[in-house]
Amino acid sequence: MLSNRYQKQRNNLVEVLREKGIKDDQVLAAIRSIPRHTFVDSALWTRAYEDIALPIGLDQTISQPYTVARQTELLQLRQGMKVLEIGTGSGYQCAVLCEMGAKVYSIERHQPLHERSREHLRELGYRPMLKCDDGTVGWSAYAPYDGIVVTAGAPVVPESLKEQLNIGGRLVIPVGDSSTQHMHVITRVSKELFKEDVLDGFKFVPLIGREGWR
Ligand code: SAM
Repeated sequence: MLSNRYQKQRNNLVEVLREKGIKDDQVLAAIRSIPRHTFVDSALWTRAYEDIALPIGLDQTISQPYTVARQTELLQLRQGMKVLEIGTGSGYQCAVLCEMGAKVYSIERHQPLHERSREHLRELGYRPMLKCDDGTVGWSAYAPYDGIVVTAGAPVVPESLKEQLNIGGRLVIPVGDSSTQHMHVITRVSKELFKEDVLDGFKFVPLIGREGWR
């Protein structure tokens, strides 16, 4: 059951995101309904509907709502699509994807975050497939995916993730150095051909793993 608490603040956040250029009504509807405050420590609840990233422990963050909205919008989701998320973190982005009707697979490298998000997503009634592992190599057992979203900053685009994209599928991934990254959208046009667009600048925590930062 999703809570009505902070509903006014969620409505205001949606207006802020709209003003910042988010157009996808399904993304905005998901953000309007998901209690973001429950994904952070109760000491931070009053700040949960500001458009800012917040700490979730282990030097990690729940991404800024604008970033979540923008990455989700770039996936161009439709009901029933199969989506792989790298970096479950708090589980918030995963909840947004589930709320939009995607079949979600999500990987987190930190065991405590993996366990906490699994429990919380279950409490909210979402049923994604989750695992604790290095997501830079994807999750080949369930590939191919219609969308892959990476919620940590990568030095390069991991080849394994490109290989696990369905034809027509999109990989949304921030790529750059440790201080700033640009959002890359890679579309698989055919088995061999990929189209790559480089969009706006962001600042993410690092993607650490075999095909990420060492
Ligand atoms: N989607 C998350 C949310 O809604 O809270 C964002 C979390 S944070 C910005 C990025 C997450 O990526 C962190 O929890 C971090 O531990 C995780 N991460 C970094 N490298 C990873 C890897 N190779 N595989 C899986 N998770 C990774």
